[in-house]
Amino acid sequence: MHNYQQRIAIDMDDVMADATGRFVEWIAERHGVVIERHQLRDEVLQTLGVPYAQLRKWLWEDGFFRYMQPMPDSQKVMQELVKKYEVFVVSAAVEFPQSLREKVDWLAEHFPFIDWRYIVLCGHKYMIQADYLIDDHEKNLIHFTGTPIIFTAPHNLHLQGYERVNNWAEIGERFL
Ligand SMILES: [Mg+2]
Repeated sequence: MHNYQQRIAIDMDDVMADATGRFVEWIAERHGVVIERHQLRDEVLQTLGVPYAQLRKWLWEDGFFRYMQPMPDSQKVMQELVKKYEVFVVSAAVEFPQSLREKVDWLAEHFPFIDWRYIVLCGHKYMIQADYLIDDHEKNLIHFTGTPIIFTAPHNLHLQGYERVNNWAEIGERFL
């Protein structure tokens, strides 16, 4: 029997993995348009002629998820978190079937200390039971029964009413 550890569920895209940076990279490569991270919002993309509806198709392309950069400090902080908490990586990945393998491989490369038993690739997240959920999308946080924590991303700056962390250093201060 384990001693009770608090359980933290942690999202991948735009929390552990720099999905915003990946879009910025492909927009530059494929459209020749260099944008800042905070410009990755549909209002801005429309004016640049690269609407998000078009970019969204990239989510089904081979390699999109596999070559993201880990978010700054995420590996270092995660390595400490897993010693103190029961940490589950929870990613709504099934919509993009090719991402399942890519995400498992990506985690093995960048977070080799996370055992595969603690990786949950799913559809909905509302049935996830944990003490905390750290995620960048309100749709995942709104029905969560534990403490929801929003991880700052360009598309959620306006959201109020959630505890917020802006980066992994702040996750470290909050939990370690
Ligand atoms: Mg996310």
